[in-house]
Amino acid sequence: MTVPHNDHFLREVDRIDIRSNEGFARRILSKEGFAKQILSDWHIHTERSCDGACLEMRDLVREASRLSITDFGVTDHLHTSYNLPDIEKSKADYLTAVAADPGLAGRFHFGIEVSSVSQWEIDKVLKGDYKGDVTYGLRSGWPDGALPAIALDAGYIAGMGIEFVVGGVHWPLTYDLSVDSLIKDYHRQYMFLARHANVDILAHYLWWLPRSDAANPFEEFGGVPDYMKTELAEALLDNGCAFELNLEAMLLSDYVTEKFKREYLEYAAQLQSQGVTLAIGSDCHDKHYTAIDFEKSSRMIEESGVDLTKNIFIL
Ligand SMILES: [Zn+2]
Ligand SMILES: [Zn+2]
Repeated sequence: MTVPHNDHFLREVDRIDIRSNEGFARRILSKEGFAKQILSDWHIHTERSCDGACLEMRDLVREASRLSITDFGVTDHLHTSYNLPDIEKSKADYLTAVAADPGLAGRFHFGIEVSSVSQWEIDKVLKGDYKGDVTYGLRSGWPDGALPAIALDAGYIAGMGIEFVVGGVHWPLTYDLSVDSLIKDYHRQYMFLARHANVDILAHYLWWLPRSDAANPFEEFGGVPDYMKTELAEALLDNGCAFELNLEAMLLSDYVTEKFKREYLEYAAQLQSQGVTLAIGSDCHDKHYTAIDFEKSSRMIEESGVDLTKNIFIL
């Protein structure tokens, strides 16, 4: 699904010239004429997401244009089949937005963010074999160290016209919440997602739920052994899976230290130099898309050595 990007950015520069609107002045162009600013976003939640995201699709479209985000996709959450009605509503809103604005064709895409969860809970929820609220799947009861799985198959992807899949780890699949155990468990889940044929982008590497019961095992980026990072790089490269540069949950988050952000970006720059595609993901959960500070993010990314004009995910 990923393609070489230089042509794309040439096309972007054409667009800038044609539009010559307020977006033009906000772009920073390099000597070669490529935009050195974030132009795409492949991780956006709308009010249809199960988790309190509240952006309306029509506001997203309007505000993306104002922010000069030219290529982007909506990605509401799917944990288990329980969330499928949300995805159907998200798709209906998406189709309405595209029908209302023909200029969005080929630029605005329908995607999904799928969680790594246990096959055990996927099966239970599918059979209706549960009690209580399963919005976030079944967060206990699975066998310790359960095999990770996603509640999404190629048939559903084709049937729903899902154009790209973002895969995220949101919870442990181990009951041992010691730092070592969690690092191993998350690595196992990242490797699963990076190797999965249906996952295009690995979301928010080393993200930890703020205010979680267990202490953040990823307080230090360097706490994760280098061999795991090398293994992940190989898996991403071999499977053509992109590595996400996450804005709201990582680069712009108050819960993440500046040191961690620097090291996260250094790792991304290293991945990019090895040929891994990077994908920009705002992970917007806000009422307004304009809440995302793309300028600050662009600056942080460019200063880290990541090149926003090369090998950046685009559809
Ligand atoms: Zn996520
Ligand atoms: Zn997300």
